[in-house]
Amino acid sequence: MNPAQRVAIYPGTFDPITNGHVDIIKRAAPLFDRVIVTLAVNSEKRPLFSTEERLEMIRRSIEGIPGVDVDRFSGLVVDYAHQVGASVIIRGLRAVSDFEYEFQIALMNRKQRREIDTVFLMPDEKYTYLSSSIVHEVARNGGAIEAFVPPFVREMLAERYKVDK
Ligand code: ADP
Repeated sequence: MNPAQRVAIYPGTFDPITNGHVDIIKRAAPLFDRVIVTLAVNSEKRPLFSTEERLEMIRRSIEGIPGVDVDRFSGLVVDYAHQVGASVIIRGLRAVSDFEYEFQIALMNRKQRREIDTVFLMPDEKYTYLSSSIVHEVARNGGAIEAFVPPFVREMLAERYKVDK
């Protein structure tokens, strides 16, 4: 850990990673020396993809973006940020509907560790309606998802839902 470096973490469930997440990562990368995309493994959500599958999908999505790594964490996100020397938590804001929840979490995180700030980035407007859950819904019903996820994520979704049919 180099204290002179500006490190940010981008935490999430990434079930699966979408082009909206990748858009946020690409915007964050030039703003920091290092961005760690980190998978929350203790989330109460029951993910479709395993931790390993989600990490692999993130790994492949960030190939070629300089200064970006992937990791996982459990426990409090601010404790993880502290451990890796990050001073910033990145979150994506799609619409006003994200705001209330994100605001609450950001302020709670600040109460836990006041030296860590949350930075919100907005994706390209073409991704503002995109979420992992809506991608599931379309994929499960055989719809077109190539505009919304990287190609290998599309293959994994097709494979997963074929097995379920
Ligand atoms: P979480 O369970 O932590 O909300 P997600 O993987 O759903 O995990 O989202 C991680 C972060 O990425 C959140 O800040 C979310 O608002 C943001 N995000 C999700 N989808 C998009 C998108 N299409 N465009 C921009 N940000 C997004």
